[in-house]
Amino acid sequence: MTTIIDGKETSRQVLQNLHVEIEQLKQAGHTPGLAVVLVGEDPASRVYVNSKVRACEELGIYSQKWTLPTETTQDELVQLIHQLNADTRIHGILVQSPPPEHIDEQAVILNIDPRKDVDGFHPINVAKLVLEDPSGFVPCTPLGCMELLRVYGIPTQGKHAVVIGRSMIVGKPMANLLVAKNANATVTIAHSRTADLPGLCRTADILVAAVGRPGLVTADFIKPGAVVLDVGINRVEDATRPRGYRIVGDVDFASVQPVCSAITPVPGGVGPMTIAMLMSNTVKACKLACGV
Ligand code: NAD
Repeated sequence: MTTIIDGKETSRQVLQNLHVEIEQLKQAGHTPGLAVVLVGEDPASRVYVNSKVRACEELGIYSQKWTLPTETTQDELVQLIHQLNADTRIHGILVQSPPPEHIDEQAVILNIDPRKDVDGFHPINVAKLVLEDPSGFVPCTPLGCMELLRVYGIPTQGKHAVVIGRSMIVGKPMANLLVAKNANATVTIAHSRTADLPGLCRTADILVAAVGRPGLVTADFIKPGAVVLDVGINRVEDATRPRGYRIVGDVDFASVQPVCSAITPVPGGVGPMTIAMLMSNTVKACKLACGV
C-alpha cells in the first residue's frame, strides 16, 4: 500500500513543538521576531505574506509586515533592510519573491544580515549549507522535504536520489541536503537539458520533482517502490471550481501513486511544510542571536 505523506499533519506537529519552544524562550525574556517585506501588488505574493504573518500570530512570534508600493526603489528597499538588520526585535527578515522587475533580488539579498536570512538565500548561508555548517539557514522548502522524510522514517543512506530542478530555492539546496553526511544519499540533479529524463528517474529510490510543469512526472518515470516528493505548485484551469482553477503538482498523482511506496500529494504535501520551516528558522535565528 502506498503511504500518502501528510504534510498538513506533519506541519501541525512541527508548529505545536515550536509553540512550546517559543513559550520557553518568552519566559526567558526572548520573543522571536520576523519581518516580512512585500514590494508590489502580486496577488499570490500577498496571500503568501499574509499566511506567514498569520502563522507568526498563531505561534506568538512578533511580526512586522511591510507592504511597499510597486514603484519603491532598490535604494529604499535596501534602506528598509538595513533598518531591520539593526532592529533587535527582529531575528528573521524575508523579502517576498518575486519583487518587481526593476529590483535586483540578488543585490537585495546581499544586504540582509546573514544571521537574519531565514530564507537561506544569502551566499554565506549557501556556503554554510555546502560546508554542512549547522549554524547556517537552509531554504524552507527543501528543509521541509527533509523533515517529511525524517518523520516518515524514510531511509536516505545509500539510496539514489534524483532531484529534478536546479533552482537555488529548491533543487540545489535539496540536493545538498540529501548528499550531506547526515543523509548520505547518492544524488543526481536533473534539469531542462537532461537527456532521457524518464530513464534517469527510473533509477531513483527517492525522486524529488521541483520543476513547475503540471503532470511532468508520470508512471513511466518511477521505479516500483520509489518515494516521490512533489514540490511543484501549478495552477491549471478547472471550470468546475469556483475560482476557475485548481492547484496540482509536477507529478501525475493518479498514475504514479500505484507504482511508488510513498508520495506527497499537492496540495497538502510539501507546501504546508514550507511555512512551518520558516517559523522554525525564525526561532533558530532568535536562539542564535540570544545565545540560548
Ligand atoms: P524554477 O523555475 O526556478 O526552476 C525550475 C527548474 O526545473 C529549473 O532548474 C529547470 O532546469 C527545471 N526544468 C524546467 N523544465 C524542465 C523539464 N521539462 N524537465 C526537467 N527539468 C526541467 O522553479 P522553482 O522556484 O525551483 O520551483 C519549482 C516548482 O516548485 C514550482 O512549481 C514552484 O511553484 C514550486 N515551489 C513550491 C514551493 C512549496 O512551498 N511547495 C516552494 C518553492 C517552489
